[in-house]
Amino acid sequence: NRQIVLANRPKGMPDKETFHFVEQDIKELEEGEVLHRTLYVSVDPYMRGRMQDAESYIEPFQVGKVIEGGSIGEVIESKSEKFQQGDIVIGMFGWQTYYVAKEKEIRKIDPSLAPISTHLGILGMTGLTAYFGLLDIGKPKEGETVVVSGAAGAVGSVVGQIAKIKGARVVGIAGSEDKISFLKDQLQFDEAVNYKTAADLKEAIGQACPNGVDVYFDNVGGKVSDAVLANLNRYARIPVCGAISAYNLESVDVGPRVQTTLIKKSALMQGFTVGDFSNQFQEGAMQLGKWLQEGNLKYRETIHDGFENIPSAFLDLFKGNNTGKLLVKVADR
Ligand code: NDP
Repeated sequence: NRQIVLANRPKGMPDKETFHFVEQDIKELEEGEVLHRTLYVSVDPYMRGRMQDAESYIEPFQVGKVIEGGSIGEVIESKSEKFQQGDIVIGMFGWQTYYVAKEKEIRKIDPSLAPISTHLGILGMTGLTAYFGLLDIGKPKEGETVVVSGAAGAVGSVVGQIAKIKGARVVGIAGSEDKISFLKDQLQFDEAVNYKTAADLKEAIGQACPNGVDVYFDNVGGKVSDAVLANLNRYARIPVCGAISAYNLESVDVGPRVQTTLIKKSALMQGFTVGDFSNQFQEGAMQLGKWLQEGNLKYRETIHDGFENIPSAFLDLFKGNNTGKLLVKVADR
């Protein structure tokens, strides 16, 4: 069994030295346990936070221990009555090629619904993040303007499309011309702004949002968010989902203070994690699946091949080298 462990806690941007490849024996199966072979591994920005020894909504990774995270596998041996050889399962086994799971650690997925990889993306954690953050906190109404940052990524691309389904005018912010075309031409966003090339981002967002911003779904924080917040309408809602621009900073990010903006605009800003909605996951996944089958939701995945490429795939998230969900395919079914 090959594993990738955390070699040390990175300062600033992680690099290949942050990770260490090790070999481990596979333990004997006990009653109620299932051995599976990993097929897909998810790499996610939140994993950067878990590399720090800091209090958070989730435990930090331990140095020398395997990096945990969402993955999909195929059952190859089972001592459980609930799982059979050949079942496709999802769980948090992380960056390793095999894993012996207890029944409660895994859940079966139906491979006939959609490609199995979608359960780590649009039908899984990132899709649900978009769904609940936008609908429960953003609450977009027909005709309102919704702005989403990190718009061409796994969460952002779903946020914009759900906002369109709800009848909003949607403006995406992303970091390359390819992503801008993807948002406008493939996902039918009304406008898209390249934050890397805009001469004056606040003005560019103002132009893309002639009626102001009613909902800002924030995936990135930092200067991009400063520019959006300068264009808010009264009673705007701001689901704060992520702050990827700050994840690799070595000192605290300080920007314009937002309190007076929020007061003047009677705006609501609310942080959340997808886990806040765990009781409603089934409902959310069913709705996302329905929209997908009806053709109302599209998705793209950036899939890297090979277990050895997991660390570089993870680092690509911070370089913007992905459109849609970034995954690593570790083995064929
Ligand atoms: P993405 O697929 O969006 O990948 C990350 C993207 O972030 C990159 O492609 C890049 O796109 C952009 N990016 C990277 N660095 C910067 C930067 N310095 N400034 C602005 N943009 C940057 O990842 P996810 O969809 O998985 O996650 C998006 C956000 O949502 C993250 O902040 C993540 O932590 C958060 N999240 C929160 C959850 C929650 O429960 N609250 C759950 C899941 C994700 P570009 O080319 O446009 O720069």
